[in-house]
Amino acid sequence: MANLASGCLYVVATPIGHLDDLSPRALKVLAEVDVIAAEDTRHTQQLLAAKGLRRPLLALHDHNEAQQIVHVLARLADGEQVALVSDAGTPLISDPGYRLVRAAREAGVKVSPIPGACAAIAALSVAGIASDRFVFEGFLPPKASARRERLAVLQGETRTLLFYESSHRIEESLEDMISVLGAQRGAVLARELTKLFETVLSGTLDELRMQLASDANQRKGEFVVIVQGAHENTDARLLEGQRVFALLREHLPASKAAKLAAEISGASRKALYSAVSTD
Ligand code: SAM
Repeated sequence: MANLASGCLYVVATPIGHLDDLSPRALKVLAEVDVIAAEDTRHTQQLLAAKGLRRPLLALHDHNEAQQIVHVLARLADGEQVALVSDAGTPLISDPGYRLVRAAREAGVKVSPIPGACAAIAALSVAGIASDRFVFEGFLPPKASARRERLAVLQGETRTLLFYESSHRIEESLEDMISVLGAQRGAVLARELTKLFETVLSGTLDELRMQLASDANQRKGEFVVIVQGAHENTDARLLEGQRVFALLREHLPASKAAKLAAEISGASRKALYSAVSTD
């Protein structure tokens, strides 16, 4: 339960490009809080200046979060109102802040979201890829071996996959996605959303790789990569069904083997029948 004597920690989303995407409520909160805890105070200073605001700032990033938590909690306990912002988008989403939020909640301080832009959700909203179930993976590891290992874990994932990527690694990441997930996976590259050079490209992973290779401009800026999930019925389960069918067929009539293979693999019986009857 919130401690009524204490202040409130507002977790405030800021724009991911277009400054008009700062909501009126976010503006009001930033104008009224006692202090703004910012990932990069110079960056946030620029946002405040663009909006005609001057507020006290304190730096809170991955390297000083532990010390700053003590300080911010003390101020909240004194009844101060604090806003947490990151450089862009929603704090805590591939950005610092979750330790502060957890500590505030554990201390009984009210924590309230001021929602707004998030690159992953903005990208998903324009990708035209199944959006009912998705997995947000943030940034893939910078080292190729670790990156491929992470992708290998996601190979059979049927939910839509969302990644953040920078211009430095976008080509390497696409290469690794091709080698682990397959060149024919459908994907969308959402670049520089809400900014001047906003671009949303769709195609297979291989087509996207070729577009980037042939146009240096398409390699610039910030990216969200959205990859279709493995098609459970058409790909993974059907392949497994065919494997099981081949084993059972050595001992059973074709119709019985196909029925059992569909049950064991989870493949659609109809798809499996037509796949094995054309073999
Ligand atoms: N907290 C932010 C959010 O809510 O989206 C994300 C912060 S993370 C450190 C930065 C990454 O988000 C970038 O490297 C890029 O992958 C993605 N990103 C941020 N702004 C973007 C934009 N305007 N267009 C595309 N991707 C963006």
